[in-house]
Amino acid sequence: MNQNIKFVLSHKEGINLIKSDNSVFKSKFVFDSRPKKYLNKKNLLFQHFYGTEILFQKPLIDKNKVTLMDFQKFNNGIHFLYILPFSSRKALFETTYFSKEPLNDSIYKLDIKKYLKKKFPNQKYKSKFIEKGIIPMFYTNQKSPNKNIINIGTSGNWVRASTGYSFQNSFINSKEITDKLLKKKKLKIETNKKIKFLDKVFCYYIANYSFDSKNFFKSFFFKNEFKDIVSFLTGEIKFFKMVLIILTLPKKKLLFSMFKLIKNNQINDK
Ligand SMILES: Cc1cc2nc3c(=O)[nH]c(=O)nc-3n(C[C@H](O)[C@H](O)[C@H](O)COP(=O)(O)OP(=O)(O)OC[C@H]3O[C@@H](n4cnc5c(N)ncnc54)[C@H](O)[C@@H]3O)c2cc1C
Repeated sequence: MNQNIKFVLSHKEGINLIKSDNSVFKSKFVFDSRPKKYLNKKNLLFQHFYGTEILFQKPLIDKNKVTLMDFQKFNNGIHFLYILPFSSRKALFETTYFSKEPLNDSIYKLDIKKYLKKKFPNQKYKSKFIEKGIIPMFYTNQKSPNKNIINIGTSGNWVRASTGYSFQNSFINSKEITDKLLKKKKLKIETNKKIKFLDKVFCYYIANYSFDSKNFFKSFFFKNEFKDIVSFLTGEIKFFKMVLIILTLPKKKLLFSMFKLIKNNQINDK
C-alpha cells in the first residue's frame, strides 16, 4: 500500500485504528514493525556496520577463505572487519563495531579504504554495492496499547542482542503467530528466556570488557566444535552443551557481568 503509518491505537469493541498519511484503516489485529527510537538513550550498545562490494582488477582473493572477525584497535568498544569473497576478484568488505555511538559514514569508508591498502597494497579496485545498518544490542519492553496490537521484528525483540540476527526468530515467530491465529489462541510470542539472559550477560561483558573481547571470541570459535557454535548462535542448543561452551569462555568476567546486571536490576528489559 506504500503508506507511512503515523500511529496505531485501540478503538471501540476490539477494533484498532491505523492512521497513515492519507487514510485510516480498521483491523482487529495489527502487526507493528515500526522502529522505536533508541538513539537518544545513553549507555546502550549497538552493532553498526558498513560494507562495500569490492571488485579488483586482478584475481587477488582466495575465494575459499572468509575472514570473519579481523579485530582492529578501538578504545570505545569492539571493531573488526569481514571479508566475504564471491569470486577471486569480488568480495564484500565490511567494517563492524559494537559500541554505544554509531559513526559517520566517512569513518566506515575510511576503515575499508585503509584495510584494502594494508591487505592489498597498490591494487586497483572499484567499489560497487554498499550495505549498512545499526542494530540494537539490547532488549526493550515495548508496551502495545492492547493484546491484539503485536510488536514484531526489532520492536518485538525478535533480533538477538548478541548477534544482530533476526531471520531465524522471524521464521519461528511468524509460524507461531499463524498457528495461533488459525486456532484462535492468544497471540503472545514466548521468548527464550535462557537465550535472552545469556545475551544480556554477553552484551554487558562487551560493553565493559571490550579490551578482552578478542580472547572471548578466540575461545568461543577455537575451543568449541563448529556444530555446537552454530547451535549456540541459533539458540537451539541443549543445556548441557551450552554449559560446556560457557566453560570455555572467560568465566570470571562473565560471572562478574552477570552479578552486576542482577545487582543493577538490568536483567529486566529496558
Ligand atoms: C545490511 C544488513 C544485513 C543483514 N543481514 C542479516 C542476516 O544475514 N541475518 C539476519 O538474521 N539478520 C540480518 N540483518 C538484520 C535484519 O535485517 C533485521 O534484524 C530485520 O530486518 C529487522 O526486522 P524489522 O521488521 O524490525 O525491520 P525491517 O526489516 O527494517 O522492517 C521494518 C518495515 O517496516 C516499515 N516501516 C517502518 N516504519 C514505518 C511506518 N511509519 N509506516 C509504514 N511502514 C513502516 C519499513 O519500511 C520496513 O519495511 C541485516 C541487517 C542489515 C541492515
